[in-house]
Amino acid sequence: MELDKALDLIADVPDFPEPGVLFRDLSPLFADAAGFKAVTDGLAATVDPEADLLAGVEARGFLLAAAVGYSRGLGVALIRKPGKLPRVAGRVGYTLEYGTATVELPEGVVEPGQRVAILDDVLATGGTVAATCKLLEDAKAQVTGVSVVMELGALGGRSVLEGRRVEALRVC
Ligand code: AMP
Repeated sequence: MELDKALDLIADVPDFPEPGVLFRDLSPLFADAAGFKAVTDGLAATVDPEADLLAGVEARGFLLAAAVGYSRGLGVALIRKPGKLPRVAGRVGYTLEYGTATVELPEGVVEPGQRVAILDDVLATGGTVAATCKLLEDAKAQVTGVSVVMELGALGGRSVLEGRRVEALRVC
């Protein structure tokens, strides 16, 4: 399937999880074998060839990072919401488009000096990815780039990540 057709499988859901938010629902894309493959291949091509490890942001970033990691022969650091990890190496709080949130890094997954590429589904305000960058850099890793399926340009995420390599398969 062509990448554009695959990206058209993403559903726009108004007023979720709050009035005024247009939620980009990737569920139909994940459920479509050809669409999921096209997006996995598209994302895999954006990952720095020098990357040692991928970081996937809970929860949809896990699926993307797992698929890209398999295709590129890379492991995945699971960037988690709070309260899920038995051993926490680091924690960063941030502001989201709708509320506040925290990301946590598990112990024993990132080595100092490793080059890590971050994967997520949607780049909105950039808070999640910026917090993930901080989490990884606090652990002395080097963030080599950020790859997302969809960037919501009006929300300014790219400017929050100024100076970083940000790749989006579609900018809306
Ligand atoms: P942000 O930190 O504002 O860039 O938000 C990015 C995170 O929140 C991603 O993990 C997305 O899954 C989720 N997210 C934020 N806004 C949306 C949206 N409009 N549609 C779908 N997911 C979103």
